[in-house]
Amino acid sequence: MSKRDYYEILGVGRNASEAEIKKAYRQMAIKYHPDKNPGNKEAEEKFKEAAEAYEVLSNTEKKSRYDQFGHQGMNGGGYGGGQHMNMEDIFSQFGDIFGGHNPFESFFGGGGGGQRGGRRVNRGSNLRIKVKLTLQEIANGVEKKLKVSKKVACHTCHGSGAQGNNAFTTCSACKGSGQVRRVTNTILGQMQTVTTCNVCGGEGQVIANTCRTCHGTGVEQGEDMITVPIPAGVADGMQLNVSGKGNLGERNGIAGDLLIVIEEIEDPKLKRDGDNLLFDLYITFIDAALGTQVEIPTVDGKAKIKIDEGTQGGKVLRLKGKGLPRVNSYHKGDLLVNINVWTPQQLSADERKMLEKLRDSENFKPNPGKGDKSFFEKMKEFFN
Ligand SMILES: [Zn+2]
Ligand SMILES: [Zn+2]
Repeated sequence: MSKRDYYEILGVGRNASEAEIKKAYRQMAIKYHPDKNPGNKEAEEKFKEAAEAYEVLSNTEKKSRYDQFGHQGMNGGGYGGGQHMNMEDIFSQFGDIFGGHNPFESFFGGGGGGQRGGRRVNRGSNLRIKVKLTLQEIANGVEKKLKVSKKVACHTCHGSGAQGNNAFTTCSACKGSGQVRRVTNTILGQMQTVTTCNVCGGEGQVIANTCRTCHGTGVEQGEDMITVPIPAGVADGMQLNVSGKGNLGERNGIAGDLLIVIEEIEDPKLKRDGDNLLFDLYITFIDAALGTQVEIPTVDGKAKIKIDEGTQGGKVLRLKGKGLPRVNSYHKGDLLVNINVWTPQQLSADERKMLEKLRDSENFKPNPGKGDKSFFEKMKEFFN
């Protein structure tokens, strides 16, 4: 089944502002909320769909990736997107949407089901690293093995933050339940809400014996080797999101994301212009007059091209499909060869004599005809 457009799901236009997106989502969330539609599978699907759309469109980075690449940009090549949101993720979004207090916390904590219990999960921070790529790597795509310095689980306590026997004791604030009940007024009327215990973070237990290695945080600085598949056609400044490979959250938390920022190493010969590559070719005016064959560099080796006799400087040859691929597309750019006719800057006495003989030759006088497009005509053609 093909996925629906995120803007369409929320019923907003592509130019909708942050506030409009938020408002549209808030209305959807209220309409399709499971508490209001018990047992209605379709409503639940709509609810999840809207949450996913909002998750992407409310995040500047994800939104711009989605605007650029569509759904493919969200999950192509193993990058995490807004997909696979579970109810827990959705409800944790609501703090933001409904301004601090989550009106649906009752569902989250109470009706939400057993093992959840409203435990607060610490999410680690995102990590950002730069990856330098050659033009060849960009043209073909590449798998990069990266050594990443980040927060990992403490080797002593394996992430719990507690150490030894009797490491934990029952939380006195919630008597071990992990939850605190209170009655509040919400947009759906009065509700008895169950919130997570602040003291123990919903675990029902507190640390009695703090791990000395990590001082109770459950994390320590470590290293990880991460293999990142980089799709062909990426560009300088582009960012790839590898979800769950960032810093680990404290005390058995979940990891943040690893953000890969692409840096392009400038190629000494080929210049990049979007999907196209540009090459400046210099030939002698003798080759330009007589015609010849020359070898030019391409992104995956070399290519032979024919220079017709009588070629003028400034002519651009287009080698179709010899440029760069576009991310998540079959489109390939072209290689544009800009022909420059080299005028000698130093001449021997003999050379000078030979050229002097040709100076007044009728064939050597410029005589641009219909077929010789002017610089301005060429520019026009180039940008159309
Ligand atoms: Zn520890
Ligand atoms: Zn507690």
